[in-house]
Amino acid sequence: MSRSVLVTGGNRGIGLAIARAFADAGDKVAITYRSGEPPEGFLAVKCDITDPEQVEQAYKEIEEQHGAVEVLIANAGITKDQLLMRMSEEDFTSVIDTNLTGTFRVVKRANRGMLRAKKGRVVLVSSVVGLLGSPGQANYAASKAALVGFARSLARELGSRNITFNVVAPGFVDTDMTKALSDEQRAGILAGVPLGRYAQPEEIAATVRFLASDDASYITGAVIPVDGGLGMGH
Ligand code: NDP
Repeated sequence: MSRSVLVTGGNRGIGLAIARAFADAGDKVAITYRSGEPPEGFLAVKCDITDPEQVEQAYKEIEEQHGAVEVLIANAGITKDQLLMRMSEEDFTSVIDTNLTGTFRVVKRANRGMLRAKKGRVVLVSSVVGLLGSPGQANYAASKAALVGFARSLARELGSRNITFNVVAPGFVDTDMTKALSDEQRAGILAGVPLGRYAQPEEIAATVRFLASDDASYITGAVIPVDGGLGMGH
């Protein structure tokens, strides 16, 4: 069965691996991108999730080409790391506006079609950092922790409509986002990871795809760590 899937930030990193996993399984996959040339093989819609009009436009385009979104993967996210005393208002609000409010925008719009269809799957990409905390990432951790309350509220609100909301909490994954870390930071992180390595984006994608599959039909409001054991106990 070919479903209409949207992956925000599906043009690179974890989002691209997720988009590929769904496309390989035969789904119709739309991805968002903000600039440059998007990867081939998907319906690429230009969309900055901090702009409600662009979100609306992207959904219209997807609905025309693929039909209403049946599976939404809210993956787009940013970091703006800084110690609290040096963290500007903009460092804080831009991360919240992208990671949390941007997720709210795309989830709300997707739910229109899901309510009509009386089914839907939503997976939010959070982070181990949202549950564990991380010095220099108070803005990012707050935005990612908030996704848990957001998803669990919606799981309760919309469970009776056959829409599931789950959260994946990756540990450290080999992407542009983590390339910014120094060797020293990298070594420090790896010392806390029982599996002793970073994840490949495909390892996150596999869990996301499972949560959107028939095999996960009775899972909602869950937070699934894919972190090599880094967050155990949170
Ligand atoms: P990247 O930095 O490689 O990619 C980020 C993606 O988000 C890009 O596709 C980017 O689009 C998109 N994006 C950012 N801001 C916006 C916006 N305003 N509107 C639309 N798209 C936007 O990150 P990763 O692939 O590593 O991360 C993906 C998700 O996984 C993020 O939510 C991140 O927080 C989370 N995560 C990552 C971890 C890691 O170790 N890498 C660990 C835990 C969670 P563009 O190309 O236009 O910039």
